[in-house]
Amino acid sequence: MLRRKNLAYYFRLAIQIMFLILMPGLFTMIFGQMKQLYTSVILGKFNFNLVATTLPLVILVVLTMIFGRFFCGYMCAFGTINDLIYRFSPKFFKTKFKANKRVDNFLKLLKYAILLFIIIVVWTLGISELNSINPWDAFSQLIQFPPQVLSIKALIVLIIIFIDALFIERFFCRYLCPLGAFLSILQVFRIVKIRKEKTVCIDGCTACTRSCPMGIDLDNVNRVDSIECIECMNCVGVCPKNNAKLTVFGRVVNQILVIAIFVLAFLGFKGLAEKVIEFKMMKEDKERSINFGEHIPKPDGKRRHRHGNEEQQQVQNVDVAQGKYKDGTYVGSAIGFKPGLTVEVTISGGKISKIEIIDHNETPSYAELPFKIIPNEIIKKQSTNVDAVSGATRTSVGIMNAVAEALKQAEQK
Ligand code: SF4
Ligand code: SF4
Repeated sequence: MLRRKNLAYYFRLAIQIMFLILMPGLFTMIFGQMKQLYTSVILGKFNFNLVATTLPLVILVVLTMIFGRFFCGYMCAFGTINDLIYRFSPKFFKTKFKANKRVDNFLKLLKYAILLFIIIVVWTLGISELNSINPWDAFSQLIQFPPQVLSIKALIVLIIIFIDALFIERFFCRYLCPLGAFLSILQVFRIVKIRKEKTVCIDGCTACTRSCPMGIDLDNVNRVDSIECIECMNCVGVCPKNNAKLTVFGRVVNQILVIAIFVLAFLGFKGLAEKVIEFKMMKEDKERSINFGEHIPKPDGKRRHRHGNEEQQQVQNVDVAQGKYKDGTYVGSAIGFKPGLTVEVTISGGKISKIEIIDHNETPSYAELPFKIIPNEIIKKQSTNVDAVSGATRTSVGIMNAVAEALKQAEQK
């Protein structure tokens, strides 16, 4: 590990810590939304509302195609934990472990195989036996408060990964992460790239290569085209000749500015898109409430909530039948008062044992009660068919629908 602690280094560290504390469930949410979007497409249930509920994923896809894997370098808590563990490694080992280059390059392909396997076997064929060993579920359970571990097998896999992270920097990201594999493929045509003139390098320096957490060979290239790059900027900061530079279309750009643009664009576009969808929903609701005065038939299996002046919102009624759901944690998103209400549902012994709100854009004063009451009611009744909280119907229904979305993924085929 070779690092120059410049301003960009501290800026990155600050962003990583901020996301680790404020949005530790981002990995689980994005990966859960990938599954939600994919399964709805193959089941022919894709619609506009679904794009609205999976906005963080959609925005991340677009930004990664333009900028590259800044998500992995700055925003993913799982990646940050890998970084932190590796920082401890000098305390345990005197010598640095170095992965054999050929083995390292071969193992990097493993994550693409894992992604393909998950898409085909788990998401398409619905074979969910392997859910019980997936480490990101164990990780998301551990970062909840209070921490909870459902699957000992998954916890063991997670511990093995953390031990390996002491030896190999970003072990999980390099070899195993299916989300990292997906983002790598997206960044093939990114316009933000690191350039360095080979001819300017000091003979035998290799500082950039030694600083790279993803094990990319940098000393013999003029430009970083590798899709493994997580844009951490270590190679830029460490170069004694300031030879490595971040560029857009070949023009040198300020790295801190680009990092800030990516992070703010992710958070800003997410907020903006949610406002647009909210406006569209309000318009639709207005039209619906005018029609409601005349007559709206009740669709089969659905019910409508109406409270005071609040408009109608369809609830997906799901009752948990013993044995129907596979144990594990599942993420579901739906529209509450605003888009992006995301929950993580834990199934143990075939029953819902925990519901955690992992992301939302609801108004805190209105959301406080439904966030407390609705998950408990659903767990108590083992059904999403519960009464909405008075005065916060849309948030209540959003929670019920997000849980129903998560339960769709937990269904045993
Ligand atoms: S590779 Fe995976 S775990 Fe690593 S930072 Fe990227 S998304 Fe997170
Ligand atoms: S190539 Fe540079 S920016 Fe990319 S991961 Fe390696 S050190 Fe970080």
